Order: sequence, then C-alpha cells, then structure tokens
Amino acid sequence: MKPTSARTPPLDGRGPYDADVVVIGAGPAGLAAATRVRWVKGYHALAGSVCLVECGEPGGLLRWGSCVLTGPGWAFSGEKLGDQLMGDIDRLAIPVVTGRAIRLDRDGTLLLTTLADGRVLRSLAVVIATGLRPLANESSLYLRGVRITFKGYEHFPALLRHSADDARGRGLVVIGNAKTAHLQALIDAHTGHAGRVHVITRERLSRVMTDDDGVTGVCLEPKDAEAGSPRTLPCGAVFMDYNGFELQPDFQLAGLPLERDERGFLRFDGFGRTSEPGVFAAGDIGGRYAATLPAFGDGVNAGLSAYAHAFELKLGAPPRLFAYAPLDEPLGVAPVDLPPLPGDAVPVALGRDGASSPPEWVDGHSTLDELARRLGSSSLALAAELAQHVEERTLTVHRLPAA
Ligand SMILES: Cc1cc2nc3c(=O)[nH]c(=O)nc-3n(C[C@H](O)[C@H](O)[C@H](O)COP(=O)(O)OP(=O)(O)OC[C@H]3O[C@@H](n4cnc5c(N)ncnc54)[C@H](O)[C@@H]3O)c2cc1C
Repeated sequence: MKPTSARTPPLDGRGPYDADVVVIGAGPAGLAAATRVRWVKGYHALAGSVCLVECGEPGGLLRWGSCVLTGPGWAFSGEKLGDQLMGDIDRLAIPVVTGRAIRLDRDGTLLLTTLADGRVLRSLAVVIATGLRPLANESSLYLRGVRITFKGYEHFPALLRHSADDARGRGLVVIGNAKTAHLQALIDAHTGHAGRVHVITRERLSRVMTDDDGVTGVCLEPKDAEAGSPRTLPCGAVFMDYNGFELQPDFQLAGLPLERDERGFLRFDGFGRTSEPGVFAAGDIGGRYAATLPAFGDGVNAGLSAYAHAFELKLGAPPRLFAYAPLDEPLGVAPVDLPPLPGDAVPVALGRDGASSPPEWVDGHSTLDELARRLGSSSLALAAELAQHVEERTLTVHRLPAA
C-alpha cells in the first residue's frame, strides 16, 4: 500500500470551522465516507470539505496482508482496495490528520473532536469509523513477529505455536481484552516454548518495537489514563486477539453520550445516524458481521448522510442528491441543482481534482462580502467567478447557520 503524502491539516483556526465533516478512522469505512463527502457524485453538486483522523496508518485492517474480498468465482485483495481508496484520498487532497481522537463534544452548532495531543477539530458533522480498535504499527509487522487470531478456531493452536516459535524464548505478548480469557487454555497448552507469556487486557498497544532481528518489545498505555502509566515490555513476538476485539471493541471516546449496545458497539441506523444529531457511524464499530464490503457500504451511507447534514446547516435546505435521495417536492420548469453562494459564506479551496485552482484571494476565512469589499467588486460578481470552481469541485463554502 502506498504511503500517504504529507499534507497540511486545516487547523489554522481562522475560518468558522475546520471542515464540514471530520471522519475518525481511515479504514475502508472511513475512507469511503470521506470520499463521498468530498466527491459527492451528483452531476452538479457543491462538494463538502472533509478531514480524516487516523492514529495508525490509513487503510485500517486492509493493511493486514491477509484481508481478501472473495466470492466463489473471484478474489480482490484488501491491500489493492486500500491502495485504490488511498489513491482517491490523494487525488481529492483530503487531509489526513495523524492522531487518536479521545473526545467528542458539542459547542452550539459545532462538533469538537479532541485528539490525544490536545488538538481540536471543529466541524458540522462527524463520522465515527474506528473499527474494533485503534491501530498502531502492528499491521506492517504481520508475519514478521506479529500474528493474529485468524481463519477458524481449528487453526488457533497452530497460530499460537507459530507465535511461540517467533518469540524464540524471548517472551510472547498477547494483546487482547477481558474476552481473551477465552484463549487461556489454548495459550497454556501451546506457547510453552515462547518464554514468558504476558496477556494484556487493560492496556492498549501503542507501538511494536523492532530491530534488525525482528520484534524486541511493545509500548503499552493504559486504556484508563487514571489507572497507570505507559510502559514498555520486552518480548520476541506479539499475538493480537481479534476474537476478543470482535466481542468487545476498544472504543474510548469521551464526551457526547453515544448510545451503545450491551457489548460496547455503537448503535446506528441504516443511514449511519447515531443517537447524537450530526454524529454518524460506519463499519466494524457497529458490531455486525466484520467484513470489508459492509464496512465500505456503511461508509458511503454515513458519508452521504454527514454531507447532507452539513449542507443543510450551511445553506438552510437539503442538498439535491438525486438519485441517492430524491427531494419530495414539485420541480419547476428549469430545476437548478447548485445552490447560490450567500454573501456571508466563506469560500474554501479544496485542492486538486478539478481543471483549475480557485483564485489566490480565496483565503479560507473571509466571507464573500468581505472579499468583495477588499477587491472593490460585488459578492454576486465574485460568486459568478467562483462558479466554475464549484462545478469542478475544487471549492466549497463554510458557513454557520444564523444563531
Ligand atoms: C486478520 C483479518 C482478516 C480479515 N479478512 C477479511 C477478508 O478476507 N474479507 C473481508 O471482507 N474482511 C476481512 N476482515 C475484516 C475487515 O478487515 C474489516 O471488517 C474492515 O476492515 C472494517 O473496516 P472499518 O473501516 O470499519 O475498520 P478498520 O479497518 O479497523 O479501520 C478502523 C481505523 O480506525 C482507526 N482508529 C480507531 N480508533 C481511532 C481513534 N480513536 N482515533 C483515530 N483513529 C482511530 C484505526 O487505527 C483503523 O485504521 C479481516 C479482518 C482481520 C482482522
């Protein structure tokens, strides 16, 4: 999978907010959601601005080489899909902010996503696509000292024996949660030659350490920050218990009281709507069958819903998204899909994919009226000048609804 290109996150804090939609998690669900917001795929549509937040590497579980989409007569590698999805993210210049989201709050119309390092992203809508757990660098070490519960239960003894072989007597760390107790008999029976075995249930993996010979240890941080401090643990191999994470996700987002099921998975409807207005969700965090295609489809749903939510807040009417969501109203003799740009809207450049870039004077924080005054023009004339960039999807507007 290609590495993400470096980008400047939209965090200068000068506009009314940072992005129409913030997507937390860049696995297949999050990548599909972000692409829909920015690309929309109506014939004439005002693209939305979007930014992804990812604590590991974009691609999510697609980065485990073992993830394959299959039918009886076809197979499509997850890694290839990941490359294609990331190609779109690059093509559309969607910013990827590296960091772990730890809080989600509401401040009037805005949703505030707080990252572990204290940065705060302001948006009109949020999509939560965090999968079963936050990833670190473990997927890049798959089969190079890192293994996972995989295939079927009959394979678990061999998988654990291979992990114990990898450890070469230097110790094995099993990363899981309370449900990892289900593996205890298997661990006891099949990892005797690993050296010391540590089963981690209350801490999160933040990094696998390596040298030229392979895995040398793990960095761990407590899931509950009050209950300990980060630490390192030397070992020769790591075993990830996805059986446990599929039963109970590691999903820690403080703030808004999002409704969850009894196992800790997020509840959301067929349009990706959670219990909190403006907050949508997609993919494995819903706790249904964990598979790439449903995650991708969820992402499309949640992306379009978040786009529509932000659009309505910005412009006071729902977007015209025929044929995804028809408007239940009579059409005039000459229907128009693109909305007029109001004078108090802030034009925001979206980057590549169109034929031309918006003019230099689009600074991302001045309204059309302010720009018109500065340039000695009229808001209508400037809006007309920007129409081509709206059509090419290299420009949107940010606007808060009137209080
Ligand atoms: C070993 C294995 C094999 C698989 N094989 C197949 C297969 O053959 N076919 C198939 O269809 N499916 C397969 N799957 C399932 C498939 O990979 C998942 O269903 C799919 O990746 C889910 O997508 P997602 O976007 O919901 O979550 P993920 O792919 O898990 O992506 C979630 C992303 O969110 C990030 N994240 C989490 N929390 C935070 C946070 N707080 N802040 C910022 N970022 C965060 C994570 O780091 C991650 O990158 C397999 C899974 C595994 C583990």
